[in-house]
Amino acid sequence: MTDGALASGKTLGILGGGQLGRMIAQAARGLGFKTAALDAAADAPALQVVDFPVVGSVDDPAAARRLAEVSDLLTLEWELIAPAALEEAARLKPLHPAPSVLAVIRDRKTQREFLARRGFPQTEWGAAASAADLPFYPVIVKRRTHGYDGKGQARLASPADAAASADIFAAPCVWEKIVPFEAEISAILARGRRGETAVYPVAENAHRDGILRTTRAPARVPPAVARAAEELALEIASSLGHVGVMAVEMFVLPGGGLLVNEIAPRVHNSGHYTLGACATSQFEQHARAVAGLPLGPTSASGPALMVNLLGDLWENGQPDWSALDGIPGLSLHLYGKSSARPGRKMGHYVVVGPNADEELARADARLSALARRA
Ligand code: AMP
Repeated sequence: MTDGALASGKTLGILGGGQLGRMIAQAARGLGFKTAALDAAADAPALQVVDFPVVGSVDDPAAARRLAEVSDLLTLEWELIAPAALEEAARLKPLHPAPSVLAVIRDRKTQREFLARRGFPQTEWGAAASAADLPFYPVIVKRRTHGYDGKGQARLASPADAAASADIFAAPCVWEKIVPFEAEISAILARGRRGETAVYPVAENAHRDGILRTTRAPARVPPAVARAAEELALEIASSLGHVGVMAVEMFVLPGGGLLVNEIAPRVHNSGHYTLGACATSQFEQHARAVAGLPLGPTSASGPALMVNLLGDLWENGQPDWSALDGIPGLSLHLYGKSSARPGRKMGHYVVVGPNADEELARADARLSALARRA
């Protein structure tokens, strides 16, 4: 093990084989590295593009060992990995971010305890094993682990509602006071092995049914709010000792105050716009940070909009992408998933430029006309 930068031709191994891993691997190749990835599905998005695909569960220490054996350095695309597999990977090869960061983030309770301990702003919250622990209504209840894209959470308006949704408590939960936010934003940053940092223009997110639908960067918030969000995110990454890209999702309150909603210790869907809009994409930046290379510039060439393409659009087969032809500044990214389910993230597109809003509206109109026609 060495503290030096990963040399050209060495192998970066990724725990997880989804689209995030795929885009990290593609960027890592651009930096001269070989790549490996571990996933239970042989045709997982990242396994299609790496030099050394490893088939096995990310939660299985033996599979993590096989990934480590073909890799010189390890990273991950997903925080919900069994601690035993992470520990085994880290025992064999350097792993960034460290298992200790994941241990804080994996569980919403330990994540909120960390934020509380360090005095970072967040909504009122508490642990909840059953409806009896809920202090008031309405309230949001979230499973402590394995919840994402709005899964494993329920918005409860009354005790009757809680009784009807009792199955949420099949696993330990936290409750959260509902935040009357004006906007949801995310700060994407990278922190290198020596603590150096770089932060991207703060982005604004719109969700539908708990799933990210669009990201706009820069966020439409006053410059002072954007600066405060960047500083908050950088402080969080430093206090965790994180290495790699990190996304901090926040709520903007009326008046401009910020509350931290969630920390993702990895590249993030709300940072996809950086691939196309920024001098260094979040994927390249992550590879640089973990590999010990200097961080790249984060400036954007113009306003950008990112739209997730969900499986719903595939209801009648593969969409006809020629519908997007001729839209200036648009780039399409597909993840190579062979089966589309409603809500499944199949790809995204990014529109960059001063007319991003108009071009996005054109692209959306064409795609929805396509979906209707099919
Ligand atoms: P999460 O999985 O925690 O990111 O939640 C998914 C989405 O639910 C968020 O992006 C918000 O739109 C909404 N949400 C989550 N927690 C809260 C909250 N405490 N108050 C208001 N909206 C919330």
